[in-house]
Amino acid sequence: MDLSYTPQELAFQQEVRDFFEANLPGHIADAVRSGAEMTGEIYQEYHRILSAKGWLATTWPKQFGGPGWTPVERHIFDVESNRYNAPRIVPFGLAMLGPVIQKFGNDRQKAEVLPGILSAEDWWCQGYSEPGAGSDLASLKTRADRDGDHYVVNGQKTWTTLGQYANKIFCLVRTRFDGKPQEGISFLLMDLDLPGIEMRPIRLIEGGHEVNEVFFTDVRVPVENLVGEENAGWTIAKFLLTHERTGIAGVGISMQALEELKALGRRVKRDGRRLIEDPLFAARVARVEADLEAMKITNLRMLFQAQKQGHPGPETSILKIKGTQINQEIRDLARRALGPVAAPFPGHVNDGNLALSPPDTEHNAARYFNARKTSIFGGSNEIQRNILTKTMLEL
Ligand SMILES: Cc1cc2nc3c(=O)[nH]c(=O)nc-3n(C[C@H](O)[C@H](O)[C@H](O)COP(=O)(O)OP(=O)(O)OC[C@H]3O[C@@H](n4cnc5c(N)ncnc54)[C@H](O)[C@@H]3O)c2cc1C
Repeated sequence: MDLSYTPQELAFQQEVRDFFEANLPGHIADAVRSGAEMTGEIYQEYHRILSAKGWLATTWPKQFGGPGWTPVERHIFDVESNRYNAPRIVPFGLAMLGPVIQKFGNDRQKAEVLPGILSAEDWWCQGYSEPGAGSDLASLKTRADRDGDHYVVNGQKTWTTLGQYANKIFCLVRTRFDGKPQEGISFLLMDLDLPGIEMRPIRLIEGGHEVNEVFFTDVRVPVENLVGEENAGWTIAKFLLTHERTGIAGVGISMQALEELKALGRRVKRDGRRLIEDPLFAARVARVEADLEAMKITNLRMLFQAQKQGHPGPETSILKIKGTQINQEIRDLARRALGPVAAPFPGHVNDGNLALSPPDTEHNAARYFNARKTSIFGGSNEIQRNILTKTMLEL
């Protein structure tokens, strides 16, 4: 594989840089740089900016209104958007439901669902997990009982990321109770303003409101909102999860975080010398940088493979495991670099030795704690290892 960019790719890189220079508002970049919790308004503003340029659905083919980028162009966009401190693109509609509707949706669903995602008008959230059905997702109990031309939905979903900003939810529901659990699951789309739906916040360890519980009581959902066949939702669920895992690799985010970590190591003084000159710290930074370089290549290789076969495969589990380990290691090193001032407190910190001030300190510990989630969501890393041993090592 030739790892240098072609002249066309370099021109594309410049185009992306020019775009972010000209179009990313300062208050959005500042919010991302500070590590503060993102608001729904910030995400929406950024999504609309990308949508106006036709760059919101970075993974979609032209046929469905995406930019039709090659894997390398997507990689360039990922790296550059993070370098300019753009927020992440909220993935639930764009990277998860979009590909599902393109592959499994009927013509009416394609016409109704895809434009709302592309224009950033609709915000989808993901209703997969339940209390008691996370790793063992097939044991989910939220039920959808047929009543004429409606399903009546009862049950509970949990860990629903950014659901407080969403107007729609895609859910896995149980439509059959006998036979193998996987063979009684269906994939259902719902408006969140339907009577009988209630959302409650869950606070994460750092105090942020990023996830929710969703309760369904006799919610009437039109049968036409079923995607694919009744009881055939498990295939769709798995297809969606491979897309989710590819996105979690977060190469661009980790590259930017590593640059910030190295800058921090150059500024922080420990025992009269720069922290980056401490052999133990420097060795950990070097190791995570080498891992990230390897990850970059693996990510590109898998993106090409996914393009060739039309969808990502089980090998995305490798990206999920490695990507989250790298991200957590960088956050851990940043917290250690700051030591006692990594605590999340407001105000200026300058004791003459550390010479640090917000944004170095303010959200550092929160970022570290928040990053713990990455090895759990999208299917925990232990589950990814199980997938790899079954599907790739055939053990
Ligand atoms: C911040 C955050 C955001 C999330 N967002 C969403 C969302 O938007 N929508 C959604 O549907 N879900 C979401 N999830 C849920 C997520 O997918 C689940 O938390 C995850 O699948 C793990 O399930 P669980 O929490 O029930 O843990 P459990 O399944 O109870 O697992 C507990 C522990 O046991 C281990 N374990 C379980 N089974 C095995 C096994 N067979 N082999 C080895 N180890 C095992 C797990 O790795 C884990 O360490 C989110 C989770 C988090 C933390």
